[in-house]
This record gives sequence, structure tokens and C-alpha cells, in this order.
Amino acid sequence: MQKLTNRAKQIDRSPMNLSERAYLPALAKGLGMTLSHIFKKKATVSYPEVKRPFSPVFRGLHVLNRDENGAERCTACGLCALACPAEAITMEAAERKPGEEHLYREEKYAAKYEINMLRCIFCGYCEEACPKDAVYLSESVMPTNYNRAAFIYKKEDLLIPNPQKKDSK
Ligand code: SF4
Ligand code: SF4
Repeated sequence: MQKLTNRAKQIDRSPMNLSERAYLPALAKGLGMTLSHIFKKKATVSYPEVKRPFSPVFRGLHVLNRDENGAERCTACGLCALACPAEAITMEAAERKPGEEHLYREEKYAAKYEINMLRCIFCGYCEEACPKDAVYLSESVMPTNYNRAAFIYKKEDLLIPNPQKKDSK
């Protein structure tokens, strides 16, 4: 019969000799293989004590940015939500009132801004779409949780600390 491939192996069906029946050579071979791995460089790390360096293009937890005066950069234009393929971003816009210029950079701001991290695929499209450099993906790894509600990140969770307040401390 014509072979389909050349990978077929002929099985040796001759009766086992004494040493083969005692399984000693196979045991020694297995032990030798185990011992040889003791001296080899480990392929694993003792996480979380040891952490591997991330790739320079790693995209982690989102951050909402402020300007140099501490005002929120986001103007609630909705472009990030529009660009998001996972429909993970929701927001509500509000008008800035007189006297709130130190809080919000533009005349419109996000009164509510939420990202559902269970939907997010960390593609970075929101960051690319933002015309105000208001949202970016940081190098922080998102913490795990057993509670689904904890994965809905609100504006307060995403906003970076106000640099002005930090200086004044
Ligand atoms: S990283 Fe991608 S999936 Fe996540 S919120 Fe931004 S656009 Fe949506
Ligand atoms: S984060 Fe950027 S793109 Fe998204 S609503 Fe705010 S200003 Fe617009």
C-alpha cells in the first residue's frame, strides 16, 4: 500500500529482554533527564516576588490626565467612546460654570466617565482617538477582583492626582 507520508514509524514488537522487563534502563534514563533539568536555566519566574519586564508597548490601566494647572483635560467629546471597539466607555457631558476654570480646561467636561474593564481589550484606540491627550493607557497592571462591579472604573478612579494639590502638601 502506498504511504501517505514518510512519518510512519515501524513499531518493534519483539519480546522484551530481562533488563527491559525490570524497567531499570528506562528508570535511569528518566532520572537522568530530571537531574539534567536541575542545572538548566529556569524558564519560569517566582511570580509575584519576581516580575518579568513588560514590553515597551505594554498597555495597562487607563488614566485620565490633567493639564499642568491641575484642570481636567477631558472635554467629553465622546471620540474615545466612538473609537472603542468593545463599547466599554460611557460618559455624560456637562457645561463648565463660571469660576470652575481651575477644575475643567474646556467649556464642556465629563460629569461622568466610566470604563468597563471587563469589556476593555486594551487596544489603545481610545488613547489614539483623544484630541486632548486626556486619556492614555498607563504601565500599571489592572488589579484583579472577585467583584464584577469593581471592574467599572469611574472618573474618580481614573483621574491622576492633581499636581497642584500635591505641591501644596
Ligand atoms: S483600550 Fe480599547 S477596548 Fe479599552 S476602552 Fe480603550 S478603545 Fe475601548
Ligand atoms: S477622553 Fe478625550 S476623546 Fe474621550 S471624551 Fe475626553 S476629550 Fe474626548
